[in-house]
Amino acid sequence: MNFEFLVLGTGSATPVVNRHPSAFLLSIENESFLIDCGEGTQYRLLENKIKSSRIRHIFISHLHGDHYFGLIGLLSSWNLNQRKEELTIFAPRGLDEILTTQFKYSDTRLHFKIIFVETNTESINQILDTNLVTVETIPLQHRIPCCGFLFRSKASKRKIVADKLPSNFPIPYMKMLKDGLDIFDELTGVTYKNKDFTVPGGQSKSFAYCSDTAFNELKVNQIQGIDTIYHEATFTESEAKRAEQTNHSTAKQAAKIAQMSNAKQLIIGHYSSRYKTLETHLEEAKSVFANTLLAEENTTYKV
Ligand SMILES: [Zn+2]
Ligand SMILES: [Zn+2]
Repeated sequence: MNFEFLVLGTGSATPVVNRHPSAFLLSIENESFLIDCGEGTQYRLLENKIKSSRIRHIFISHLHGDHYFGLIGLLSSWNLNQRKEELTIFAPRGLDEILTTQFKYSDTRLHFKIIFVETNTESINQILDTNLVTVETIPLQHRIPCCGFLFRSKASKRKIVADKLPSNFPIPYMKMLKDGLDIFDELTGVTYKNKDFTVPGGQSKSFAYCSDTAFNELKVNQIQGIDTIYHEATFTESEAKRAEQTNHSTAKQAAKIAQMSNAKQLIIGHYSSRYKTLETHLEEAKSVFANTLLAEENTTYKV
């Protein structure tokens, strides 16, 4: 199963040249989920040739500007481009009102439907369940209501090995094989054992998005055994005090969460503009959790 995480922005609240605010695209098969939408996200999507029609769900962690100021531009452009597909936006309370006000005063009449779903940032809630994936909120500890998102892809159906099928194999039986069933053909009296004709499909994979948050161990139970975790790492250890004061994490704290969650892979990002280079972030995180990667813009990571 194709399950990928594209980084569109690695910066945090204050702007810096060559780094953009938070925005990410998680793709599972042919569906894409936009996670956070900092200023200029629409340009990053263009650079990466992402079609708007592929995105039907947007997840906003919280209402600090570096996580959603790109929305009004993106949605307005989609409207100018005659988007028709319905869109669902998950966000804490208030976003509906903010966007509706912006549309009202620009006299923007949308050609597509937007469904706002208010997230409860205090508890774990399943907010989406499709053929491909389930999504749960991850309560985070920040200055304003904020939650992360846990994506779990569903295991895909069994795959048929075409060479092994007898010729003229009835089409309705194919679906039964994919569903893992043995088949008894009453006409011929032949039994087709599922294991003789199929191999296992893709396994379920999981991805956790955790930004912005103070160091907080509460989430490690929920994301235990996660395949990939993206965790904010605004600061390095020398700024640990500042991290605590501002409800952010250091790279080492992000690594600690990955380690406690028995994660397979950690990606860190949301770097403070004070850091020109990121070697220290990586070094400090790796001292705790070896399989740490720095988030780099316009780069895709396999989950
Ligand atoms: Zn932020
Ligand atoms: Zn924030």
